[in-house]
Amino acid sequence: MLRQKLLEGLTTADAEAFAAAHPQPPKLFSHNPTANPKGVTNNCEICTRNSHLQCSLCKRTYYCCEEHQAMDWNSVHRKICPFIQVLRSPSPILSTQEQRAIRAEMVANTKKFVLSVCQEEAQRHLNENNPELAHPSALQALRYAADVYGNTALELVPPYLLLAEANIAAELYDKAQEHLCQAKWILLQHPDADPNLRSQHSRNFGRLCLAQKKYDKALRHFSSDVYFTAQLKGPDHIQTSIGLYLIGIVFIEKADHESAVALFEKVLAVWTPFLQNCLTPVFDGGKVALPSDWDQSIQKIGQQILKKIVQNQKEMHGAVQIAVAQAIFAEGLLNCVIGDWSNAFKLLVQANQMFEVTAGSEHTLTRESHRYLQLAQRMKSASIADDEAELSFE
Ligand SMILES: [Zn+2]
Ligand SMILES: [Zn+2]
Repeated sequence: MLRQKLLEGLTTADAEAFAAAHPQPPKLFSHNPTANPKGVTNNCEICTRNSHLQCSLCKRTYYCCEEHQAMDWNSVHRKICPFIQVLRSPSPILSTQEQRAIRAEMVANTKKFVLSVCQEEAQRHLNENNPELAHPSALQALRYAADVYGNTALELVPPYLLLAEANIAAELYDKAQEHLCQAKWILLQHPDADPNLRSQHSRNFGRLCLAQKKYDKALRHFSSDVYFTAQLKGPDHIQTSIGLYLIGIVFIEKADHESAVALFEKVLAVWTPFLQNCLTPVFDGGKVALPSDWDQSIQKIGQQILKKIVQNQKEMHGAVQIAVAQAIFAEGLLNCVIGDWSNAFKLLVQANQMFEVTAGSEHTLTRESHRYLQLAQRMKSASIADDEAELSFE
């Protein structure tokens, strides 16, 4: 039980509760710097400039201006303020060795928890296309990872990858490169590191090279991503298909459309049966069966991938073709899986009509798409009926 104990009786549920109770950033107090012990300065959490405005709730975090407070608040401080307060308070004088050991363990647990919140928030902001908000939480995660685990620990790699991703999205490529090199340096010292970290590192490096139009380098990094992910998950896994898709994107940039189309077809051949499997229980009134590693990030990447493939297949083949119908069919299935039944219905109607025109009404693809089209229609009406029931209940 000692393992889970945090400082001052705080619990992991307090992060959400605090954020819910404080929707707006609290007032800033003016702190008198002459009250500081000699040599102690207060620096803005965001820009590290010397500053004298403090968060009025924890009184342990400083900002140079309201904008920087708001940025930190929305990034992560609204969840970690009470934890920062206890972590940055002077520790009590403890008389016995045992008391000191218990306290040290609680400090470490609290820091690890803050680290996990910072990482989650950074990832969430990235998923929601807010790289500016992802940056402060990723930086905070890096500080805590270094503090708890030391400067060369593998635990620093995820924060570096988050920082790199935020910087690529903000088009700060030099910064992104710096973070990826630091992550690489750590990975080199840990030959036994999780292949998952290596694949993410290669993927981010590939994305950076792609953004900088260094296509040959991008291809090398994305190929390593595919190699590591295939090792971990198998060649026909949706995670592995992300690297294949990214290689396809590089081929498009290099105007090698044939290679891109071949890769996109392979990506669809992974996603379509995967999504169909997830939906199997729904036909019998059950719930969508998602694998344990399914999360917001993979859902967002899936949406991007399938949308882009539909668009590309249309450009390559013309608007009404079997290849286009297959891509739209997969996009429709993904919408079923994420529960957007009305959008799924629209897409599946399109795919079904296109299969009918291009392959005939007896073709397996036409029949299959019709089966899912009916499912989406049934689920769509059911969810509308639910909404109406709710409304009439009110
Ligand atoms: Zn500042
Ligand atoms: Zn605070």
